Amino acid sequence: MAGLRFTVVDAGPLRPDKNKLVAFAQGTVSVPTTVGIIEHPKHGLILWDTGVNDAIADPERGDAYWGPGIRDAFGAHGFTREHAIDAQLKRLGSRPEDVRYVVYSHLHLDHAGGMSYFPNAVHVIQREEIRYALWPDPWTRPVYCQNDFRDLRKLELLEIEGDCDLFEDGSLRLIKTAGHSPGHQSLILNLPQRGKVCLGADVGHQRDGYEAMVPMPWDWSTSAMSMTRMRMKQMERSGVPVFLCHDAGDFSKLPSKGEFWE
Ligand SMILES: [Zn+2]
Repeated sequence: MAGLRFTVVDAGPLRPDKNKLVAFAQGTVSVPTTVGIIEHPKHGLILWDTGVNDAIADPERGDAYWGPGIRDAFGAHGFTREHAIDAQLKRLGSRPEDVRYVVYSHLHLDHAGGMSYFPNAVHVIQREEIRYALWPDPWTRPVYCQNDFRDLRKLELLEIEGDCDLFEDGSLRLIKTAGHSPGHQSLILNLPQRGKVCLGADVGHQRDGYEAMVPMPWDWSTSAMSMTRMRMKQMERSGVPVFLCHDAGDFSKLPSKGEFWE
């Protein structure tokens, strides 16, 4: 679609032990949290995920907000108030009130942290993800931060079930890619010049683990994840590149700092 364009920002630089992201990996790793900013000629400003909440920039507030020790565990010390998506949008010349749609890959604390910044937007989430996020299994509870959802019942939600062509114009197609979480989805953007690009979010945390099909901590279902990864790899073979949310190499290939893909 002519006029459709997009860029990305890092709204959550983290430096965790790599085994927090890829099972049994060694050492620590610096990772971005990719947030997509999409301009649609008819539907305006759209976000793909919202990164980490600004409370995490402050050690004391951060521990109260995410829960004791979680900020340390994810190595969020490099995250500043300026990284939060509302601040980054302002630097790019947009106001949070201008955002018309916020589309979530899933509701983990590094993806839903900015939910309350966008009171005027329609928030697009897989139905299963909303339900699960509000009452997760005990072992996934640390990564569903209930503070992120404090305005959920006041916001306008668009609940999706399965795959969906969001505006019925082929520009933004959502495909359900369950595994990391029950209602995880990925976004296929159909750009007028570049063609199709898939923002895979957390179908893999790191490119090496994803390529080798290594499971990830916090994965809700490893069998669903295997099916999802096979689907993603088929897409890559068909010529649609897939970008992971937290892989520094993938992030560096995407347009940022005032660059756009059209
Ligand atoms: Zn994530």
